[in-house]
Amino acid sequence: MKVGSLKGEDSKMYLDKILQKSMEEIELSDKEIKYLLEQTHEENINKIFSTARGLRKKYFGKKVFLYGFIYFSTYCKNDCNFCYFRGSNTKPPRYRKSLNEIITTAKKLQKSGVHLIDLTMGEDSYYINNTQKLVNIVSKVKKETELPIMVSPGVVNDEVIDELIYAGADWYALYQETHNKVLYEKLRANQDYDLRFRVKKYARNKGMLIEEGLLAGVGNSVLNTVESFDIMKKLNVSQIRTMTFIPQEGTPMENWKQTNFLSELLNIAVMRLIFPNLLIPASLDVDGLKGLEERLDAGANVITSIIPPNDGYAGVANASNDINEGFRTVEGIQETLARCGLNNATLDEYKNWVENQKLKISIEGGRINDKSTDYRWKIAGNRNCLSSKESRVLLNFTG
Ligand code: SF4
Repeated sequence: MKVGSLKGEDSKMYLDKILQKSMEEIELSDKEIKYLLEQTHEENINKIFSTARGLRKKYFGKKVFLYGFIYFSTYCKNDCNFCYFRGSNTKPPRYRKSLNEIITTAKKLQKSGVHLIDLTMGEDSYYINNTQKLVNIVSKVKKETELPIMVSPGVVNDEVIDELIYAGADWYALYQETHNKVLYEKLRANQDYDLRFRVKKYARNKGMLIEEGLLAGVGNSVLNTVESFDIMKKLNVSQIRTMTFIPQEGTPMENWKQTNFLSELLNIAVMRLIFPNLLIPASLDVDGLKGLEERLDAGANVITSIIPPNDGYAGVANASNDINEGFRTVEGIQETLARCGLNNATLDEYKNWVENQKLKISIEGGRINDKSTDYRWKIAGNRNCLSSKESRVLLNFTG
């Protein structure tokens, strides 16, 4: 019988079988992943979400990680058709924050309890032509806050990646948004797909953690999404985010019919089933504080786009939503966390996760020998998210 024609009990049994495989961390086939992503029945969707929460609990307990967001330049030389901040749009607020302003905001975020500072800019020619200024921002924010740093500067060359690593950047976020090259060309017009992908691989091979991103509701088919998950796996990403496309005023896609958030939520949950021990954000950028609970209930374990109120910073998908109201703050999200039975991780827990992940990448890249004492001590201190290979290394060490 074809999976697409399964009805009633057969369909229920098939879903249960897939979810059982997920719980046992047996790799799902493309057909099974597609089946999960195509679910529309509330009861089935709730089962998928519940399994995703179970896997999150297995690896992360009740802890979530919190990311502060500093969109320090909203200028951009590109013209992505989906983006409010595309260079030719006259509507968005354009600003380029000074180094002092950025540091002040970063320290404010650090004091409020975030675990990471995400330094994001459009592909601003000012920085692209003066990369030392970009590197300097990373180095100063790292020094002043001592927090892990994510950089999202767009496509930069290999030497800049090297310098960003040296300055203290831990993460490189560069979203493809789709892995269907025809759709990519429509979304990121005149930007080289392969170059964007190659830069991520370079950064990862140099030991940075990579965040990949997928936009929901822009024309991706379910099969495209299945393929994206496969590509993310091969890229060996450490964090994967999905966000629903919000049509933006003044762009070629402003009249696009916005979808509901179900695809995004199912993406989050299915990502958790496929990548149980990775970081999956619930972004405050899409639907503000009111959309946080459902994203956490789908299995997310990071809250992104925490922005201090009244400092004049924009979000990306929603330039101003909930920012000056103070809802997108560590304090502002606590009630929602409590309702979801979750709480803030400690900074040490986050730093351990990052260090452990970097060690994994270094071992896979052959830069560290897994028999190294240093490596074994480090994974011994972070037993809650070990790969099977790490577990074997540890067992040989302690057993
Ligand atoms: S998505 Fe990024 S690169 Fe594209 S226009 Fe927006 S800011 Fe520029």
